[in-house]
Amino acid sequence: KEIANKIAAGEVVDRPSSVVKELVENAIDAKASRIIIEIKDGGKSYIRITDNGIGIHKEDVRIAFERHATSKIKDVEDLNTILSLGFRGEALASIAAVSQVELISKTRDVESGTYLELHGGQIIEHKDIGCPNGTTFVIKNLFYNVPARLQFMKSKATETSHISDLVSKYALAYPDISFRFINNGSIVFTTSGSSSIVNNIASIYGKEIAKSMFYTSNRQKDLYIEAYISKPTLTRGNKQLQVFFVNGRYVKNQILSDAIEEAYKTLITVNRFPICFIYLTVSPNSIDVNIHPTKTEIRFDNELRIKDFVVNTLKKRLLKENL
Ligand code: ADP
Ligand code: MG
Repeated sequence: KEIANKIAAGEVVDRPSSVVKELVENAIDAKASRIIIEIKDGGKSYIRITDNGIGIHKEDVRIAFERHATSKIKDVEDLNTILSLGFRGEALASIAAVSQVELISKTRDVESGTYLELHGGQIIEHKDIGCPNGTTFVIKNLFYNVPARLQFMKSKATETSHISDLVSKYALAYPDISFRFINNGSIVFTTSGSSSIVNNIASIYGKEIAKSMFYTSNRQKDLYIEAYISKPTLTRGNKQLQVFFVNGRYVKNQILSDAIEEAYKTLITVNRFPICFIYLTVSPNSIDVNIHPTKTEIRFDNELRIKDFVVNTLKKRLLKENL
């Protein structure tokens, strides 16, 4: 079973940022209004995620690390109507199999919380502990027991930038949640959880970028878009800051990238890319989110319609500026 867990772990956890992704999604599912993400050494030696969510009941703490343990699906029909981010019950088991985990958690209805420490999935310590409501996960020495994976990790700087990128996108996708990202002891950014998207863009990417954004929104039947797009004079050398959210989730999608290129085509020189944050709402049954297991890649049923809608909305806004 231990070996099976290690093998399965590879599918969910392939680098520090995938640990952060799973733990942040769990915190969101737990209805946290504040999530603190702290890493050291690109997350290789240390990842700590603290949330003020519902917590894990004392009697469920150990079960949460069992494969296919999920509190998020009650019956099979639920599968079609899942609103939570996680539902496979695989993340904690996978993470625990390949790292040293400390969990501290408390629900509101009890006086004291629980501390559980696991190394490679084996319980080291399990006790009551005084702690605030919510959950803290500390993940130490990722892949310490899987030498092949250890070697596969990139430099600290590369892993850090992956995590920073990921946390930024969650912070933008969930403006009602306060996110704080701490790297090697210093705060990289904090969002307030009660501010506008533009203020969050300022907190995360800086005031200069936030100041140069145009806002626009548009509706067409079941399609709704809100977009924050940069002046054509403010560009980047890559598409890193072209960020898409569809129905509240951060996604990667070629059609949306193409739409930006098309809208700015006559305004921007080749090899430059505008900064765009695009929030799109479509009817849930018009997208396929299952083409990729991590669910960041999606496919639209009617790609042409989506592309035209986005291109037209952005173009109209850019025209208004007389550029
Ligand atoms: P999934 O998210 O697919 O249910 P996970 O392995 O990620 O599976 O988590 C297992 C279970 O542990 C969750 O279903 C949830 O009940 C509990 N859990 C994990 N993280 C948290 C958290 N931050 N707050 C509250 N409960 C949590
Ligand atoms: Mg999960």
